[in-house]
Amino acid sequence: MSSELSSVVEAHLADVPDFPVEGVVFKDITPLLQDPGAFRRVIEGIADRYRGAVDVVAGIESRGFIFGAALAYELGVGLALIRKEGKLPRETHSMSYDLEYGSATIEVHRDAFTEGQRVLLIDDVLATGGTAASAATLVETCGASVAGISFILELSFLGGRAALGDRPTWSLHTV
Ligand code: AMP
Repeated sequence: MSSELSSVVEAHLADVPDFPVEGVVFKDITPLLQDPGAFRRVIEGIADRYRGAVDVVAGIESRGFIFGAALAYELGVGLALIRKEGKLPRETHSMSYDLEYGSATIEVHRDAFTEGQRVLLIDDVLATGGTAASAATLVETCGASVAGISFILELSFLGGRAALGDRPTWSLHTV
C-alpha cells in the first residue's frame, strides 16, 4: 500500500528550480490537488493508517491546512491550526526556530488541544524539520501527545527526520 501511495505522490509533484530563491528546488504539490482521484487516494491512505489512533489533526500553515482539513473530515475528528506569528486572534503558545537565514515563529491557540489528546500533525513537505519539530513542541506544551507526524513528501537529504526525535513519523514519498 505504501509503495502505491508513494507512486501516486511521485506522479503528481512538480519540481520548480530556483524558487523561492536560487539553489532551492521547490516541490509543488498542486498537481496532486488538481487530480481528484489522486487527492482522495492520498487522504484515504493517511486516514487508514491513523484511524482510531488519533483524536485530532493539526495542520501546519499553509499547505498542511489543505491536507489536514480533508484528513480530519475523513477521520471524523477536529482540526487544530498551527499558524505563522500574528494570525491567531486569541491567546496562544508560540515557538521560534532558526531558518537558514533568520528565524520564524509559529503559534497555536492555548485551547486547541485538551490534556492527553492524541494529535496527528500534518504538513506537505519535511525539509530541515524545524517547522514540524516546533509544531510538535507546541502540541506537547498544550499537554497533548504527538501520536504521529505525517508528510506527503520527505526530502531525506536535508535530514529533517532527526529533528523530530523519536516521534513516530511517516512520509508517503521520500526523495
Ligand atoms: P522545514 O522547517 O525546513 O522542514 O520546512 C518545512 C516547511 O517549508 C514546510 O511547511 C514546507 O511546506 C516548506 N518547504 C521547505 N522546503 C520546501 C521545498 N523544497 N519545497 C516545498 N516546500 C518546502
